[in-house]
Amino acid sequence: MLNSYSHLINADLHCHSIFSDGALAPDVLAEQAHANGVALWSLTDHDEVRGLPQAQQAAQDLRMAFVSGVEISVTWAAKTLHVVGLNIDPKHPNLLAGLAGVRSGRLARAQAMAKGLEQVGVPNALDGAMQYVRNPDLVSRTHFARYLVSLGLAQDIGQVFQKFLSTGKPGYVPHHWASLQAAVGWILESGGCAVLAHPARYQLNEVMWVALMDEFKHLGGSGIEVVTGSHTSSESQRYARESVKYQLQASRGSDFHGHNESRSDLGALPFLPSICVPIWAQWSHY
Ligand code: AMP
Ligand code: MN
Ligand code: MN
Ligand code: MN
Repeated sequence: MLNSYSHLINADLHCHSIFSDGALAPDVLAEQAHANGVALWSLTDHDEVRGLPQAQQAAQDLRMAFVSGVEISVTWAAKTLHVVGLNIDPKHPNLLAGLAGVRSGRLARAQAMAKGLEQVGVPNALDGAMQYVRNPDLVSRTHFARYLVSLGLAQDIGQVFQKFLSTGKPGYVPHHWASLQAAVGWILESGGCAVLAHPARYQLNEVMWVALMDEFKHLGGSGIEVVTGSHTSSESQRYARESVKYQLQASRGSDFHGHNESRSDLGALPFLPSICVPIWAQWSHY
């Protein structure tokens, strides 16, 4: 167990590289995190662990503590949730097979998205999005968003999502991701901790939030993100209280995707509120 100041550690346990929808390579992210004063870092690409060896090596070269991570796409009660796995074993066969299954639907979904966009006068959007894809297994809405910004159809990524890519918009295609049970199961089997990412983003009412917490805890989930680039400070305060209420550990991460695209730079976030138990308290390096 650590000292009582562990909530003051600059941990950034959520970001993305070119192995999913981030704009930078893992080693560049590591350098940036280190330069920004991050002391404990994780790379958490969507449904993908192939960036981790490079991230781990770069972190080791910089003598920055590192844990392997992933952010798994989940469908729960007809909503998309994201579950971050931290301190996972990126070679665990069940985790790898599970993630391969989650990734496998992405290309067909992207083709359907391109059809939807074509109907509102944006031709060849899949080819356009693919120009931004470095990992052909991982075509995401973010790649479409970058392409649509390049066409001048929106000012920034956020606006593209509002106009084209969020629920009900022409480029939106409903998709069935992993079940919550499967995603938490793969994370736990590989030795990791399961953390509910950016809880404020799901806009769950109180009944659904309680149901989610009950199920998540029952499945073995152990943490929620309290301080993230996706939360306002009042949302962070709210989820700090929720973490205490549900006896969940608290995580902190920028959700950095690239410069000019993300609300928070690597490590540039408020510290965890002192009422929280940091998820890293159980890891040996702290
Ligand atoms: P996908 O997994 O293909 O559905 O893409 C999800 C990703 O899209 C998220 O991880 C974010 O990076 C990005 N995203 C989703 N909603 C928004 C938004 N409103 N503004 C900017 N990026 C978003
Ligand atoms: Mn993303
Ligand atoms: Mn997410
Ligand atoms: Mn993320």
